[in-house]
Amino acid sequence: MMQWSVRRQSSWVQLAGHQGNFQLSEGGEVLKRFSEVEAVCLQALMADPLRPFVPQYHGSVNRGGNSYIRLEDLLSGLKNPVIMDCKMGVRTYQEEELTKSHTKPTLRNDMYQKMVKVDPTALTVEEHEQRGVTKWRYLQWRDNTSSTSTLGFRIEGIMVRDTRDFKMLTPAQVTEAFLSFTKSHLHILVSHSPSTALDEALKESTFFKAHEVIGSSLLFVHDWTSKASIWMIDFGKTTPSPSTVQLRHDVPWAEGNREDGYLIGLAALTSLVGQAISQ
Ligand code: ATP
Ligand code: MG
Ligand code: MG
Repeated sequence: MMQWSVRRQSSWVQLAGHQGNFQLSEGGEVLKRFSEVEAVCLQALMADPLRPFVPQYHGSVNRGGNSYIRLEDLLSGLKNPVIMDCKMGVRTYQEEELTKSHTKPTLRNDMYQKMVKVDPTALTVEEHEQRGVTKWRYLQWRDNTSSTSTLGFRIEGIMVRDTRDFKMLTPAQVTEAFLSFTKSHLHILVSHSPSTALDEALKESTFFKAHEVIGSSLLFVHDWTSKASIWMIDFGKTTPSPSTVQLRHDVPWAEGNREDGYLIGLAALTSLVGQAISQ
């Protein structure tokens, strides 16, 4: 499971992802370890109706022999920010992982260990004997035991004052965590609920029409003075869909249909915010 890091000397908080992947930079930027897939997405998003929802992308830079993507620091200037990372979609792995697991099944002991730690009964006798599982098996288990496959999103992390791991929450627990997050910040609900602007931008977006959005998050951010915002982040696994496939984003995934279920997750999020308001 990923580590969370909180660097207290600044407002920078990293809720998910590998710690070594990020560096703080001067001038309100963060540096994220370079990925060609993500860089191409960000470049395209800078000329798309979704641009207002995406951190500004300033190209790439080399630091200490490694390449990084230069991104606007979404927490820059915020005091004690409250943030929540929701990983969107009904699956968080690419179909290629599934293909690989059929054609070239490599057994991973590290992933087996992670599963054993959480639920040894989830593993078959054969998997226990092999002390290994394919990456696909692990990723699918994680999606199925979290709210990803049912609600179309999962909470990767919430940072208020404490830090806890939210990844493995059941759908009911996610509902509770989400409601308590929004209820305890009632003044921001108004800003979080009408994600209508985001809905509209997604409808108009040529990027969204043409991409399979996997493992990407909505980052909810606010501090006690400014209004809340919702950002789209993490495009490391977002790839152009084959030209023969017209993605809908609001139907379940079945092997081969490439659907990501992004809009299923967004609808669930919006409905939860609505519930929190009316309670
Ligand atoms: P993973 O693929 O495991 O989800 P990753 O390494 O691709 O992670 P991201 O998901 O892009 O990393 O980011 C991890 C965390 O870092 C986010 O949850 C958020 O807390 C923080 N973060 C990412 N980008 C920014 C940004 N531009 N400004 C502020 N915080 C950010
Ligand atoms: Mg992420
Ligand atoms: Mg990522």
